[in-house]
Amino acid sequence: MRMLLMGPPGAGKGTQAKIVGERLGVPTISTGDIFRANMAEETELGLEAKRYVDAGEYVPDEVTNRMVRARLAEPDATKGFLLDGYPRTVAQVETLDELLAETGKKLNAVVVLKADNDEIVKRLLNRARVEGRSDDTEDVIRRRLEVYDEQTHPLLEVYADHGVLVEVNGVGDVDEVTERVLTAIAPLETEQ
Ligand code: ADP
Repeated sequence: MRMLLMGPPGAGKGTQAKIVGERLGVPTISTGDIFRANMAEETELGLEAKRYVDAGEYVPDEVTNRMVRARLAEPDATKGFLLDGYPRTVAQVETLDELLAETGKKLNAVVVLKADNDEIVKRLLNRARVEGRSDDTEDVIRRRLEVYDEQTHPLLEVYADHGVLVEVNGVGDVDEVTERVLTAIAPLETEQ
């Protein structure tokens, strides 16, 4: 299974990505998690990403694409993958298309988690209290939502045209949303 989990910040992508990846037996690859791990360890990649992440801006495509290319080349990704938070720009969609073309594989499913803006801001402000993520302040949250609307939301149309897009309501209990995701992708889960 090769799938993407998309949707605005705060829609619950990270939470669902981990659970759904495990249920499907494929690695979950979260670009946000990889950036945060590198920031915590102060690697070169982490130091480069930090100023963008902390401002709510996207890390430059060249950096992100290089990182994803390397991760998808690891052996565990040959059986499939769940990408969380990638692609988010036109250039990233193009890179992913190239990577898939190189291996002769196609995406099976692109799941969009939906939640309205009030719910999103509520969740992110709550997460700020619990986890203390540096990009969960009100101004930066607002900027992240803007960047999503400008750069990432338009990409959904591309995947809808390919017939692999499914929308899932992200509001509800975690278990309930997981079941919705699994039910939505079941018809798309063919090997190719
Ligand atoms: P959220 O779902 O709240 O946007 P993530 O953990 O997915 O949180 O991402 C946090 C930050 O990491 C983003 O705001 C951005 O700065 C950076 N980031 C993550 N994925 C990408 C990507 N595909 N391209 C560019 N920047 C990214």
